[in-house]
Amino acid sequence: LLIDDPDRLEGLPDAVVLRAARDAVDRGHTEGWVFTLNAYSLFPFLSHSRERELRKALYQAWQRRARGMRYGQQRDNCALVRRIAALRAERAALLGYRHHQDLVLDDSTMGSLDRITQLLDQVQAAARDTADAELKAIEAAMAADGIDDQPEPWDWWYYAERVHEQQLGLVDSDIREWFALDQVRDGAFALANRLWGISFHGRGDLPLWDTQVQGFEVRGADGTELGVLYLDYPHRNDKAGGAWMSTYRNQHYSDSKRVGAVVANVTNFPPATAGKPILLGPDEVQTLFHEFGHALHALMSDVQYRSLSGAQVPADFVEFPALLLERWSLKPEVLRLYAFHFETGALIDETRIQALQQTQQLLAGLTTLEQIAATRIDLAWHQLQVGEDIGLEAMEERIKREMNLPQLLSPRHHFNGYESLFAGRRGGHDYRRRWSELLAADAFATFEQTGLMNRELEVRLRDEILSRGNARDPMDSWEAFRNREPDVAHLLHERGLLLDNETTSSP
Ligand SMILES: [Zn+2]
Repeated sequence: LLIDDPDRLEGLPDAVVLRAARDAVDRGHTEGWVFTLNAYSLFPFLSHSRERELRKALYQAWQRRARGMRYGQQRDNCALVRRIAALRAERAALLGYRHHQDLVLDDSTMGSLDRITQLLDQVQAAARDTADAELKAIEAAMAADGIDDQPEPWDWWYYAERVHEQQLGLVDSDIREWFALDQVRDGAFALANRLWGISFHGRGDLPLWDTQVQGFEVRGADGTELGVLYLDYPHRNDKAGGAWMSTYRNQHYSDSKRVGAVVANVTNFPPATAGKPILLGPDEVQTLFHEFGHALHALMSDVQYRSLSGAQVPADFVEFPALLLERWSLKPEVLRLYAFHFETGALIDETRIQALQQTQQLLAGLTTLEQIAATRIDLAWHQLQVGEDIGLEAMEERIKREMNLPQLLSPRHHFNGYESLFAGRRGGHDYRRRWSELLAADAFATFEQTGLMNRELEVRLRDEILSRGNARDPMDSWEAFRNREPDVAHLLHERGLLLDNETTSSP
């Protein structure tokens, strides 16, 4: 999307405009601003542009990606995903399963489709009233802007941002000034140090694949080497999108000697602009801690065989340690370790700290419904039987109708452009995030109740879960840590969604 009229940039943060100007130059334009489907460009535009028509154009381009219109039949993912789904159904049948979803669940900690459906139903019911109230607030905000129309998907990010600003007084570009990338990284290091005595030592002699990459030797509380951690945070044009952990070597024992993991955290944080360091938003801070959680899971592993170590647990358990670590990132005790203003060095103030505590509950109803819709689509798609072929759009429409999903929510996992649904081993796994979130919310609740730096609990988390890998059944590890079954009440409570008559269980 090329904009050549500066008036049409209204509302966009300076840093976003600067990057768009640079993207225009990179694409050979002599003037103007270019917005792309890269996450660092797309989402800030959808969140801040006051031009509803332009938001609509960019949103629709995003929806159409890899869907044939632009690339012709050969690059159309629709035919490919049908073929992949058909082959998955066939493989499941050959192996004696009802469908691909059952095959996936055979190697899971959650166990059965019924249990997933029950969880989704429960959370969906708890989110409904809150979502309805949030929708009314968005409609009111649109009416105040003179828009006499129902909320559409291209309004979602924009009005979500306005609600955040209004309710928290948090302006995105302002809050970023306390989250310079290096400081947030040091905050993650400091947290690991407080919790488990782990330390990180820069190593100039490690081979690096780019000048932006940093390499650290990681040591345990007793000074022994746990492994090596690479950090590759900034976005580059030739880098795959998203955030993940890569594993180069899994921890294992060789001749009775522990061999540590070698892992990397990779993200796509927006490039630095004009004389400022890379500044993160609260979401990106959480992403950094999240990936760091995956890395700690790999680095703290202490098992015999590399095939069972670290994060090589069933797919619906692997997000749990990452989602758990993420929950520390914006807590007051932790913010005070690292959230210093990038220019003045001043510690973040109490007002902002308190505002950040509420972010989890803002628009939690609508956000939860959107996540559930995405999960239900994944589940439906992977319950196809051999020979069954229903339209891609038809299935999405059916689920939206059954859920009575508000029009402005569009499940972000579109079959044509969401790699995780159809590439690699992850198809049929979308539910895993819901399950891992439940585990993380439940585990974190024990820390909230007994202290975020509760020594005894930290040790138990390390010894019973983080060090165990897949060397024993992860749900046995959970049981050893928590002494009971996971409870959905904590997840709902965290988001401010409590069912009627619900009592939160004891820690
Ligand atoms: Zn993750």
